[in-house]
Amino acid sequence: MTVKKKKGIQISRGVVHGPVFYFEKGQLSIPRHRIKEAEFDAEVDRFLEAVRISKEELTQVRDLVLDHLDEDHARIIDAQMLAVQDEEMVKSVKDMVIREKKNASWAYFDVMDRYESMLLQTLSDFFQDRTVDLHDIKKRVLYHLQGDKSSDIPKITKPSIIVTEKISPGGLINIKHNMVLGLITKEGGYNSHAGILARAFRIPYLSDVIDIEELNNCSEIILDADNEEILIDIDSDDVHRYTKRIRNFQKQRIQIITDKVASATKNGEPFHIYLNAGFVDEVKPLNPELIQGIGLFRTEYLCIAENKIPDEETQFQAYKSVLQSMGNLPVIFRVFDFGRDKLLALLDMEIIQEDHVFDEWGGIGFLLENPDILKTQLRALLRASVYGNAKIMLPLVMFTEELRQTNKMLDNIRKELSRESIPFSQTIELGAMIETSSVLDELDSLSNLVDFFSIGTNDLALYLIGSGRAVDLTKNYYHPKIFHAIKKVIQVGQRVGVPVNVCGEMASDPYALIGLTAIGIRSVSVGTSALESVSKHVASMDTTQIEKLADPILKADSPASIYSILTQYQQKDIT
Ligand code: PEP
Ligand code: MG
Repeated sequence: MTVKKKKGIQISRGVVHGPVFYFEKGQLSIPRHRIKEAEFDAEVDRFLEAVRISKEELTQVRDLVLDHLDEDHARIIDAQMLAVQDEEMVKSVKDMVIREKKNASWAYFDVMDRYESMLLQTLSDFFQDRTVDLHDIKKRVLYHLQGDKSSDIPKITKPSIIVTEKISPGGLINIKHNMVLGLITKEGGYNSHAGILARAFRIPYLSDVIDIEELNNCSEIILDADNEEILIDIDSDDVHRYTKRIRNFQKQRIQIITDKVASATKNGEPFHIYLNAGFVDEVKPLNPELIQGIGLFRTEYLCIAENKIPDEETQFQAYKSVLQSMGNLPVIFRVFDFGRDKLLALLDMEIIQEDHVFDEWGGIGFLLENPDILKTQLRALLRASVYGNAKIMLPLVMFTEELRQTNKMLDNIRKELSRESIPFSQTIELGAMIETSSVLDELDSLSNLVDFFSIGTNDLALYLIGSGRAVDLTKNYYHPKIFHAIKKVIQVGQRVGVPVNVCGEMASDPYALIGLTAIGIRSVSVGTSALESVSKHVASMDTTQIEKLADPILKADSPASIYSILTQYQQKDIT
C-alpha cells in the first residue's frame, strides 16, 4: 500500500498517530437505556426540569436579542420558546418514558425526530414558521437533560484524532479531557479561540483540510502538524519511521515550563514576557519562581467551560485560586469578552451564529449594556484582589467613555464592599486593550484613565485589515497598518508614562517579534506553548541591532516588504 498524503494549515504543532474519530457537525450523542418502573417519576421530572431551564434560557436570549438586534431575530426565539414547551411534545415524551421504558434523553430524541420528519413532510400549522430550528431546541434540552455538558460532542471511547468540519471553543473545552490526540478540521483559523485553546492544550491541529470525509474511512492515520500533512493508508513501516518524533512530542506535550523565563535581551535590556491563560487548571501547575506573571487571563473561558456565567462566589473562588498560585506575580484578569467566536453558550444557536450578527458585538461595550454581569464580575475580582497582585483589563474598548463608566461602577462597588466590611485591594490597576480602530483616535484621553495598555493584535488585525479571525491571519502580522497602529500606541504610552504590552498571537511569531521589538515593544504576553521559544528568542536578541529595522519597517508599504526585512535580518543573525 502506498501512503497517501493530505495537506492542511498548521494551527497547533505536533505529531501523533492514532485512530480517526470522525463526527459530523450537529451530530448528537444520546445515552440510550431502559429504565425501571420505580424510576419513571424521577425521569419524567428530570425531563420537565430540562424543559423549564431551556425555556428560562430562551427568555434571556430573547431579551438580549431584542435589545441588540431586531424583531425578526426575536421572532426566531419566540418560535423556539413555543416549541420547547409544546404540550403535545411533552406528553409524547412522558408517554414514551412510561410505555417504552426509555430514558428521558432517548425518548425526547425520538419524539423530536418524529417532529422533524413531520415538519419536513407536512408543514403543520405550528411549524409553518420555517425559522423554527428544532435542532437548536433539541441540543439545548438534551444538554440540560444530560448534565454532562457534552450533548453535542460525541463520546470518544479511546484516544483518537478528531476529524470534523469545524470546532467551537466550547466544543474543544468539552472534549479536551476526552482523549483527543489531535484535531483536523475543514474550517478553522490560527487566531480563532479554538486554535488558541488547541495550542494551550498542546493538541496538534491542522485546518483547511479538503475532503475530510475521506478520513472517515481510515482506521489509523498519522497527523504531522509540524509538516502540515496527514498520512493515510499507512502500514507498520510508516509508523516505525515516525515513532521517534511521536515519542518526543509526547514528552514535550506533558512538559511544563522548566526554565526561568528570560527577563532581558542579550545586550541587557529589560524585557517582560508574561503568559496568556484562561483556566485555573492551566495556571496551577506553573512554578511562579520561573515565570513573570499572567499578562492575559481570558475570564470568559470560565463561562465556556461551565456553559453559563458563574455566580459571584464561583468566580471569586476561581480568581482567588489563580492569584494564590501566582504568589505575588501580576495577574491581569480581562473581564468577560463575549461576542464574535466567543459567543456565550446561552447564545449557542447556529441559526443566529450563521448570520454573523454578533461579529462586532462584544467586549466592554456588551458588559456595560448588561451591567449586572459586569458588576458581579468586578465584585468577585475586587474581593479576590487581596490574595495577590490582581489587575483588571477591559476588552475591545472603543471609547474613553467606557472607561469612565467602568470606573464609576468600580467606585460604587468599592463603597458597597466597604459598607459590607469585605476587604479588597485599594490599589488595583485598570488597563485597556487596544484592539479596535476607533480607540486608536482616543489614546490620549484614554491614557488619563488607565494604568496600562495591552494591544490585542488578533482583533486589531480584524479591525484594521478586515478579514475574519477564522482565516489565516498570519500574514497580517506583517501589515504596515498593524505596525503603524502599534507604534502610535507606544508613542502615546511613552509620552504619558503608560506601559504598553502586546498580548495577541503576533508576539509568538518569531519574525513579528523582531518587528515589535524594533519599534519599541519591551513587554509581551504569549500562550504557554510559545513561552519557551519566545523566551529563548528574547534572550538572544541584540536590541541595538534590531532597532535599526524600525525605520525601514515603518517606511515599508506592504506586508511582503516588512516580511522580507524581518526574515533577512533573522537570516543574518543566525549566520
Ligand atoms: C487579541 O484580540 O489579540 C486578544 C489577545 O484577545 P482575544 O484573542 O481573546 O480576542
Ligand atoms: Mg481580542
